[in-house]
Amino acid sequence: MIRFRSTRGEPSTVPLSAALYRGIAPDGGLYVPESWPRRSPEDFRGRQTLAEIGETLLQPFFEGDVLEPALPAIAADAFSIPAPLVPIAGLDAGERASMLELYWGPTAAFKDFGARFLAAALERLAGAKRTRPLTILVATSGDTGGAVAAAFHRRPFAQVVVLYPRGLVSPRQEQQLTCWGDNVRALSVRGSFDDCQRLVKEAFADPRLRAALDFSSANSINVGRLLPQAVYYAQASLQIFAAHGAKASFVIPAGNLGNSLACVWAKEMGLPIDAIVLAHNQNRGVPDLLATGRFEPRPSVATLASAMDVGNPSNLERLLALYPEIEQLRAKVSALSVDDAAIRERIRAEHAATGLILCPHTATAAEAYRRLPPDQRRRGPWVWVATAHPAKFPETVEPLIGRPVAIPESLARLLELPAQKTEIEASLSALAAQLCP
Ligand SMILES: *Cc1c(COP(=O)(O)O)cnc(C)c1O
Repeated sequence: MIRFRSTRGEPSTVPLSAALYRGIAPDGGLYVPESWPRRSPEDFRGRQTLAEIGETLLQPFFEGDVLEPALPAIAADAFSIPAPLVPIAGLDAGERASMLELYWGPTAAFKDFGARFLAAALERLAGAKRTRPLTILVATSGDTGGAVAAAFHRRPFAQVVVLYPRGLVSPRQEQQLTCWGDNVRALSVRGSFDDCQRLVKEAFADPRLRAALDFSSANSINVGRLLPQAVYYAQASLQIFAAHGAKASFVIPAGNLGNSLACVWAKEMGLPIDAIVLAHNQNRGVPDLLATGRFEPRPSVATLASAMDVGNPSNLERLLALYPEIEQLRAKVSALSVDDAAIRERIRAEHAATGLILCPHTATAAEAYRRLPPDQRRRGPWVWVATAHPAKFPETVEPLIGRPVAIPESLARLLELPAQKTEIEASLSALAAQLCP
């Protein structure tokens, strides 16, 4: 049985369900597995679907936990979204690459996988403990809130309250936060994203609210959002290993490093993964860390790949817990930074050369791939990780490719639902009045 420890060195460990429920360790650190199960491709023989691979990969983390009997049901529930690997045509001779499309979930971005897994697991946990409904508070600057809302919608064990800064999310993002109803409410806060985050922290710390409500958090530092992301890297690398007899290398659009860390974890577990390249936008703290050996947290800068606008990535703490020496880190990952002009040019050029339509985040990965030395590109097979569907960003993508982007059916359905939101002041008393009228 694999337990979880804090990145900050507190000696006690907890089982999976406690790590999911608490979100953050008592010493303020992040939960990481205390050891790694070793898996080889043979362990996955006969296992093909994402749900089957997820069950096999995650079994050691569930072993001995109260959630163990629920693993098959959780995997079936959470991994019902496909993660297809689609070959890329029109590359230079000797290059093999495919795109891992992580955008076929309800909100058309990879965050649907982690949010659904966490919701499915917490639902079984709450059932087992027979607690009052959980109150899930999420502050969002765009994508996370939509994925969490979609994942918890119509799961009555929880009520979800999403806080977002009024006027600071795109119209399509706002629709994805406000279209749910039932057990999901959206609060449009007269303030900034930082105000929304502060309100969530204040609510969690407020004695009156804590007595009245059972709070839980679903933010991206919960280990329950990371583990399921290792599953699509397992599936993609196993498919490539079966087809080519070679390890897969990944280029990953990176912000808070959650998606990238899941790939690193899959490799630690023995999956056939070779190089891992982190593609950042102009928030270049991690590429600079790899170049200089020093990390300097900075305020985030706004870019076209806005879901990656992170100046101080929280999952860096987990990456450094695994590879404390800079030389170890350099041996495991490389990173580079792509500016907005290069993102735009890559969206335009990739559509012209290969017919692919990329979202601004995925375009940073495509650009990072194109900047690799030719011999490294030929060493492949490579995988470009596509983190969102381009139809989420029509105002950027459509002028560059000169035509409209077709909207996936699941996203189209959301865009037609009636929106419901409540506007509040950026104060704890205004939030409290909504939570405990
Ligand atoms: C969140 C997000 C990212 C960044 O992922 P991290 O896990 O924060 O590194 C990249 N692309 C899209 C579309 C996202 O929503």
